Amino acid sequence: ADLSVATVPISFIPTLDEPLVTVRANIGSLADAQAAADTLARGIGLFRTEVLYLDRQSQPTMTEQASELAEVFRVAPAGTIIVRTIDAGSDKPVAFLPGKSEENPALGVRGFRLGRAHPEFQEDQLLAIKAAIDATGRHVQVMAPMISTVEEATEFREMAKKAGLPEVGIMVETPAIVPMIPDLAGIVDFVSIGSNDLSQYLFAADRQHPAMGGLVDPWQPGLLRTIDTIVQHAAPAVIPVGVCGEAGSDPLLAIVLAGLGVSSVSAAPSAVAAVRDALSSLTKAQAQDIARAVVAETSANRARDVATDALASVS
Ligand code: PEP
Ligand code: MG
Repeated sequence: ADLSVATVPISFIPTLDEPLVTVRANIGSLADAQAAADTLARGIGLFRTEVLYLDRQSQPTMTEQASELAEVFRVAPAGTIIVRTIDAGSDKPVAFLPGKSEENPALGVRGFRLGRAHPEFQEDQLLAIKAAIDATGRHVQVMAPMISTVEEATEFREMAKKAGLPEVGIMVETPAIVPMIPDLAGIVDFVSIGSNDLSQYLFAADRQHPAMGGLVDPWQPGLLRTIDTIVQHAAPAVIPVGVCGEAGSDPLLAIVLAGLGVSSVSAAPSAVAAVRDALSSLTKAQAQDIARAVVAETSANRARDVATDALASVS
């Protein structure tokens, strides 16, 4: 679903000094990092590193990767930078990491599954991230995509630690990892919800399929209640929860996410200002009330309408 055209009929008038939760930016390139630096984003919530590799025919050396990463780190807005390790696969093929052709690429060797199938590449990428940190002094956390078991999370943590990267997170984008979150205490420092893929796998609906837009709508209560569950599982384990999927780029939905208890959202650079304004326009208690009303609904349209009406009545 193209959420960049999400219509929010309300203009948010900031009344608080700071947004209710940290607002970061999503980037995939140096140009994106520059665009993010022109916003009030606090750091980067998702750096899609696969973008650096998609048009490469041969594997860049560790040094080449490190200098490319360092360039991005230098211009990225102040704050923590969350670097996602390569998230490619048969649908986003990387020429130098060949795999067998797959009938169901979305269910095949993609994300961290690809990284662990090519440890020589994955270890190099992690070393390049470490070298770029050393060159720039930025605070960086690494995050693995498409994690569906505690073993995968543990394996990623070990790989990262070996490369000198102690701060590790995983994306929550498969339903199977959701009930396992309490067992991630001591393994990950944070989780970040990839609402795009989480929708795709929760609803068994291809996120690219034009006829699936209604199911992969981030206002679907089935997704929002799952996010509620994620936050509740993470709380006793003291694992911070962020959202880096497109859901966080919708200002009204960002209010709902903050009300559900996520501690950060990450938005496209073009959406950062609107998301920040929305999150600065009401109190935590008001956001919680709106979130409770929204998750009680049973359709995406109703959820959106209830949020719109509830917000109008508080402002
Ligand atoms: C997601 O799945 O929500 C996500 C942030 O990752 P990507 O869109 O790159 O798959
Ligand atoms: Mg994803």
